[in-house]
Amino acid sequence: MENCIFCRIISGEIPSLKVYEDAYCIAALDINPGSPGHTLIIPRVHRKDLLEMDEALAGKLMMTAREIGGREMERLGADGFNIVQNNGIAAGQTIPHFHIHVIPRYHGDGKIVAWEPTSPDIETLREFREKLC
Ligand code: AMP
Ligand code: ZN
Repeated sequence: MENCIFCRIISGEIPSLKVYEDAYCIAALDINPGSPGHTLIIPRVHRKDLLEMDEALAGKLMMTAREIGGREMERLGADGFNIVQNNGIAAGQTIPHFHIHVIPRYHGDGKIVAWEPTSPDIETLREFREKLC
């Protein structure tokens, strides 16, 4: 898609630091990493977000995230990794081309991928269950 930064990375028009590629996706270093080794998994086809993805492609990309997370642990010495995938501006998505963040985590790195926990009462939780089930 024209003017999509990730489509332009896929086509080679914009350079990237690729660490992996296959028929479905590329994995490249995030230009502003949250921690050393932060990698993005990006499908070759333009899909805005998870709602536009099909099962086969989503599955392939999740297995690639698994592969990259494993490499971060084995080759970078990460102690764990976070998978983050934002959908919509409200959720922090800044580039409207689906991508999965694979963020290496190191003991004591002080990074946070978090929300502030709340304590709704059981009735409120039940209302949400009714809406979602
Ligand atoms: P999100 O906020 O989930 O849409 O994430 C977009 C990510 O893309 C951010 O972490 C950016 O740092 C990253 N990013 C933006 N432009 C580039 C680029 N040219 N190459 C690599 N990563 C990029
Ligand atoms: Zn795109």
